Amino acid sequence: MKKNLEPKTVECQCGNAIEMTEESDWCTQCANKVFYKEKDQRRHRWNSIYIYGVILAVVTFLTYVFLELIVTPTL
Ligand SMILES: [Zn+2]
Repeated sequence: MKKNLEPKTVECQCGNAIEMTEESDWCTQCANKVFYKEKDQRRHRWNSIYIYGVILAVVTFLTYVFLELIVTPTL
């Protein structure tokens, strides 16, 4: 779903200024996702943190299972 919006210059996290006419775009300098609305930018950041959190929890759990099932009986 793409709507044409009023052209607006949005500054990326890397400092690159991007002329935007869509809800979201990719930065040409650092390839990060840039959002027209600051609210969407924040939501995207929280989603990223949430995904990293889930991955970290899964890795921690697998490490725990590995230690419990594989390492402990050999001691
Ligand atoms: Zn950038």
